[in-house]
Amino acid sequence: MPGSLAPRLTAYREAAEGRATIRQYPYQPLPPPPRLRGVIQIDPEKCIGCGACATACPAKTLVFDRERARLVYSVTRCIFCLLCVETCPKGAITSLREYEILVEKTPTQVVKHEPARCIKCGRVYASKKLLEEVEKRVKRKLPHLKTCPLCKLEQAAMITAMRVLRARQAYRKR
Ligand code: SF4
Ligand code: SF4
Repeated sequence: MPGSLAPRLTAYREAAEGRATIRQYPYQPLPPPPRLRGVIQIDPEKCIGCGACATACPAKTLVFDRERARLVYSVTRCIFCLLCVETCPKGAITSLREYEILVEKTPTQVVKHEPARCIKCGRVYASKKLLEEVEKRVKRKLPHLKTCPLCKLEQAAMITAMRVLRARQAYRKR
């Protein structure tokens, strides 16, 4: 009998006798190893929408959409490096002990935040929770946080242009 047929015949015989040939997985999944790097889960209550995890993510699996103030995680791109877990300042990301990764079971996670709009141009530029967190940390109100980076840039450019103009006028009067 050719050697390759022997295991198959053994399996047929065991099946006919009602003895299981596959005794564990998938009917009895093995317990995951203690240091397993599984699918990540974001706690929307803890997340402040700072986007630090998205900046740290090397696979661009986590994306922070500033214009909509939302964080998106797509499991299909994840390489399970857990840099996001280490980076999150609020401990909002955990690695699940999950190794059966089916896209249907673990769909894209979206954490939506209340958007913060610029008081000058109305553009969404951050999450309200992030601004509140900054003010909480410095223990005072920061009015300049209410404008977006672009408006700040425009304002800074205007101030610089005005200074140059004044300096030129002063030079001509000499
Ligand atoms: S585990 Fe790594 S690849 Fe996956 S979302 Fe976190 S940082 Fe990105
Ligand atoms: S680093 Fe943490 S708090 Fe910041 S957006 Fe990511 S999950 Fe949210």
